[in-house]
Amino acid sequence: MAVPKRKTSKSRRNMRRAHHALKPSSYVECPNCGELKRPHHVCLACGHYDEREVIAVKTETA
Ligand SMILES: [Zn+2]
Repeated sequence: MAVPKRKTSKSRRNMRRAHHALKPSSYVECPNCGELKRPHHVCLACGHYDEREVIAVKTETA
């Protein structure tokens, strides 16, 4: 088995982990209802996609 020759220093380890931060997930405004939605996803509020197609119908009844 391949074994590292040297112990990774705290500096090296932390430099590696400097890229590990999570980014907040992106949202775009739905062109139909203005609700925030994930890009490339059907709008969960109105069921629209590609500005006009109704793909999923969702009734809002409590
Ligand atoms: Zn919408």
